[in-house]
Amino acid sequence: MLQLFYLGGKIMCIFCKIINKEIPSYTIYENDFVTCFLDISQATKGHTLIVPKKHVQDIFSLEKKEAEEIMKAAVVVANVLKEKLGTKDINLLNNSGQLAGQTVMHFHLHVLPRYENDEIDFHQVDHEPNFLELDKLYSCLLYTSDAADDLI
Ligand code: AMP
Ligand code: ZN
Repeated sequence: MLQLFYLGGKIMCIFCKIINKEIPSYTIYENDFVTCFLDISQATKGHTLIVPKKHVQDIFSLEKKEAEEIMKAAVVVANVLKEKLGTKDINLLNNSGQLAGQTVMHFHLHVLPRYENDEIDFHQVDHEPNFLELDKLYSCLLYTSDAADDLI
């Protein structure tokens, strides 16, 4: 796991350093809210990370404006990849938390172009639907729209 450190009372990490241009990156797009750079280990050709400029750890720490800007940037990057590389198939992926595989503790969205016979496999095991469990989950998770909006 990559380490966090403090500078002037602010949390800094390797992505903060990239955002602040203290270390080099292949930044392909940025604005006031996000920096988008090529992942150093290209899982597939064009693999890009979208990172909020403010250091936030994971999806639970994202504020509404950042969440909006990240999704907008994902659309921009997807279209750049489409125009420049001919990408037609893309996965968007965020790993939040250790069990989910997060290794850099600064929120980032992976934009992952997909190609015929690439080695990525997100295939989920098919289960028979268990409607009793689904009913229980649904009752547990259902929010009124207003209450859900207050969560971000
Ligand atoms: P995750 O496992 O979701 O936390 O993803 C972290 C990603 O950051 C990995 O895909 C790494 O290859 C990528 N990464 C780590 N350091 C750098 C760096 N200096 N520049 C670009 N990508 C990086
Ligand atoms: Zn950071």
